[in-house]
Amino acid sequence: MNKLDALNEMKRQIGYSEMEQVLSYYNIRVIRKKMLCPFPGHNDRHLGNCTLTDRGYVYCFACGRKASAIDMVMMNENLEFVPALEFLWTTILGRTLPEYDKPEKRKYPVLSVKDLSFIGLNSPSIKYVRFYINLSEDKDEDLPKDCYMDRDGLDNFGIYKKERSNSFFDLIENDPKTAKGIATAKCKDTEKYYLGILKDLDDVSTEYGKTAAFDAGFKKDSKEYCLSQIEKCKFIMKKINKIHY
Ligand SMILES: [Zn+2]
Repeated sequence: MNKLDALNEMKRQIGYSEMEQVLSYYNIRVIRKKMLCPFPGHNDRHLGNCTLTDRGYVYCFACGRKASAIDMVMMNENLEFVPALEFLWTTILGRTLPEYDKPEKRKYPVLSVKDLSFIGLNSPSIKYVRFYINLSEDKDEDLPKDCYMDRDGLDNFGIYKKERSNSFFDLIENDPKTAKGIATAKCKDTEKYYLGILKDLDDVSTEYGKTAAFDAGFKKDSKEYCLSQIEKCKFIMKKINKIHY
């Protein structure tokens, strides 16, 4: 099949239910077609502004931005259009790519947002983070530039500052050596954590071991869980090892 036709056909088949799957993949909860705004920079606190439309778009009335399922993947995975479509199709929707000329060879492996948050690198593609500065009791207090108040508090009002932070994906692109080092260390730490619990389960001098000694079901479930998490680490480590510089 001609690649352009194939891509267009895939795109045509991405609608409302596909967007629902994308949102659930990124742990964005939709309640009666409403969600907290997922766009970076908009710290949405109230359901109501951001809507899932019948045609499968996310539209935020407050910040005016709109995204298709493919846009959501481009934004979250830091991918160009075609790799984002392929990622959405295979990893999120679990479908098989139609036969067309081989996808362009990628420079870097697709470490997904889920992979990175699993090893403790959270929000790798969010460009703005909010820093807590102070509390105030006076909702009309004059604030320094760049600061804003979160008026949702009960007695006190939180004062925050919004700052741009470079994303981990930027780092992979601009300084792959450092990015690989950080990701490797985080991945090894995560693996070590689950290996530790696994060991504790057999050691009655530890909390887990004590519980496990009396509860065979707990021991079996916990072991299986730890082993599956360790497998995940190995899988992510394989991707990290493909970062070359
Ligand atoms: Zn918004």
